[in-house]
Formats: sequence, structure tokens, C-alpha cells
Amino acid sequence: MAKILCVLYPDPVTGYPPTYARDEIPTITAYANGQTAPTPKGSLGFKPGELVGSVSGELGLRNYLEKLGHELIVTSDKDGPNSEFEKLLPDAEVVISQPFWPAYLTKERIAKAKKLKLALTAGIGSDHVDLEAAARTHITVAEVTGSNSISVAEHVVMMVLSLVRNYLPSHEIAVRGGWKIADCVARSYDIEGLHFGTIGAGRIGLAVLRRLKPFDLHLHYTQRHRLDPAIEKELSLTFHPDVESLVRAVDIVNLQVPLYPSTEHLFDDKMFARMKRGTYVINCARGKLVERDAVVRALESGHLAGYAGDVWFPEPAPQDHPWRTMPFNGMTPHISGTSLSAQTRYAAGTLEILESYFGGTPIREEYLIVDGGRLAGTGAKSYKLT
Ligand code: NAD
Repeated sequence: MAKILCVLYPDPVTGYPPTYARDEIPTITAYANGQTAPTPKGSLGFKPGELVGSVSGELGLRNYLEKLGHELIVTSDKDGPNSEFEKLLPDAEVVISQPFWPAYLTKERIAKAKKLKLALTAGIGSDHVDLEAAARTHITVAEVTGSNSISVAEHVVMMVLSLVRNYLPSHEIAVRGGWKIADCVARSYDIEGLHFGTIGAGRIGLAVLRRLKPFDLHLHYTQRHRLDPAIEKELSLTFHPDVESLVRAVDIVNLQVPLYPSTEHLFDDKMFARMKRGTYVINCARGKLVERDAVVRALESGHLAGYAGDVWFPEPAPQDHPWRTMPFNGMTPHISGTSLSAQTRYAAGTLEILESYFGGTPIREEYLIVDGGRLAGTGAKSYKLT
């Protein structure tokens, strides 16, 4: 019998279950790169479209796990030495966590987790796990690759439009009973004709490029592995050999690389200084890619025209985190990858990974980040341990 420790965000303050706005969601069976959506053998323990990412939703896993005789413990209490997570960790064989409410598996916590064999990310982005320590202790790290890529890409497109067109402040004026047209438009531009560049054109970055193409922007990218020439041609992409060259050339910068030691604080005062005045920055990848106070300085000086994203450090962000109140920000809490549509897919993928793990069959290669003591699968393509 295994203990499965699952850390999820708290239920809605209005109670669980919420009143749903819609009765159904579309069924997505495959992604743009041909990868199939999760295909668990057993039935989902929930109806697609239900809120399963919060504590009472339990990712729909309870029936499946208890039928096999395993114990499922679900908590949102994850931070500090007295948290339920830290107290229960030494007995856990499997830890499940979502990036939106990450259960940080630091090397100190991993040292205490003597029975831990599988750290499963219900979602995408496993930087909340110390991957080097996981590799050293032969813990498998897996995530549900592809499950929320389009959810995030849509959020990025929304943020590009809302920042450049000055949507949020204009909405605020309307809500407050105002009609101050000049105040709304004094910072409002069209995106048509602007130069947009993504750092990282993997599953999400490429989906963003494809979605922005019809808006007639000039599209740029940089990443470790150059895209297929046919894709570059189809989207009229300009490739840059490095981040520095890209940020000098564009009006809107999108961050879409994973967080690992050498991408931490990639965006600092020096990087912002390379950008032209009036650049917008979108970051729905990871908060720590950006140096917290450097972005505040760049906005306050007027060098950056706006910054939007949904990722912070730490998460949840403290009340006094300066990104909550810095000028010209379009921040949301970490929500882009946990729409109800995304939850259905990553909960199904979590079940699929657990079925493989307990059934003794291989976990899909593309779901692996660390396995057998080293980076594997998507981890080997997208992360570095240094
Ligand atoms: P992916 O693995 O498909 O793509 C990442 C790409 O980044 C890869 O193509 C890789 O070659 C490239 N890359 C890695 N390091 C690089 C570097 N230093 N310079 C240039 N390119 C580099 O991943 P994805 O599914 O597109 O997701 C990207 C990231 O987005 C995730 O790692 C995660 O941190 C974040 N994410 C956020 C949310 C959210 O809810 N906000 C949801 C999903 C993913």
C-alpha cells in the first residue's frame, strides 16, 4: 500500500462545488504536434469541466487509488516546517503537486522524503522540484506535457492585446462610472505591425506564434533547437541566435522557457536596458526568470511600457509583492494553465501516469522530466541541471 500525498489549491471561498458557467467542454483528443491527449485506461473520477484542481476536487483520483488499497491524502497546507505537507512527506511514495500552488520539493525536503519514488506535476513545469536532488536520489519526476499548453498560449495572447491596447485600465474606468476616453487611449496602440518575439518556441511558444500570426505582427523567436524550416517559412519567423539579439529587435517580448539554474534571473537590469523604450514583456513561464525588483525599476522609469504574466516567486505571492502594485502591470495569480478545460486534461494525465506507475508499465517518454538518475524525455530536451 502506498501513501500518495497530493497538494492542491484551496476550494473557492464561495464553497465547493462552484456554480458552473457552462455545462460541457469540448473533447480534445490530440495536440498540434500529433501527441495524443491523456488516455487513462480507467474512467475519470469526475465529469469533464468540473473543478478538480482544488482540495475537494482531488483531481478525481480517490476512487482509483482506494480501489487499489492506496492511501490518498490531499492538503493545501504546504509551506514551512509545520505544514501538513512537510509532516507527511517522510511517509509518501508519490507526491502530486500543481505549479499553481507548488509544493516545493527542495533538496532539504527531498533528503527527508526517504520513501519518495515519484514526484508528479499535475500540469507543466517541474521547477518546484530540485531536479538535481531528484536525479541523485533516483526519484522519477513526471508532468502532463501538452495538457495546458494551449490554455497558456491563449492567456499570453490575451495579455499581449490587453497590455498594448490598455484594456485593464480602460475597463476600470468603465466600472467606476467614468467615460474618460483620452485617459483610456493615451497609452493605447494597435498590435498590427509591431514586432513580437518569444524566448522559447516549444509547445506553448510555438502555439503563441501561430495564434498571433493572423494579427499581422512580425514574429521572432530564439530557442535552443531551431524550428523546422517549413514552420519558419509558414509563420515568416525571424530566428535569433540569442536572447540579447531578440530583445533588441522587438516591441513585445514573451518568456516561454523552463526555469532551471542558468535561466534564473535571465531578465535583469542589463537585459531590460537592451530593449527599446516602450517594450512590453509577458511572462507566463516562471516568475524567477525575471529579477523581481529590476522589472519594477524598468516600469517606474518608463523604459518598459508594460509587464503582464501569471507567474511569481514564491507562490502564493505575499501580500506586499511589488508586482501586485507596480505601474502598468497586467498580472493575474497563476491561473493560465488551470482553466477548467486544462484541469480535465491534466487530471486525466495524472491518472494515466499513476496507472503506468502502479501497473509497472513505462510512463510516456514525453511526460518524463527526470528518470533513472538523469534528465529524460521532455526534461532532457527542455531543462538543464545547471
Ligand atoms: P517545452 O518543453 O515544449 O518548450 C520549452 C522550450 O524552451 C524548448 O523548446 C527548449 O528548447 C527551449 N529552451 C530551454 N532553455 C532555453 C534557453 N535557455 N534559451 C532558449 N530556449 C530554451 O515547454 P512548454 O510546454 O512550451 O512550456 C514552457 C514553460 O512554460 C514550462 O517549462 C513552464 O515553466 C511554463 N508553463 C507555465 C504554465 C502556466 O500556467 N503559467 C503552464 C505550463 C507551462
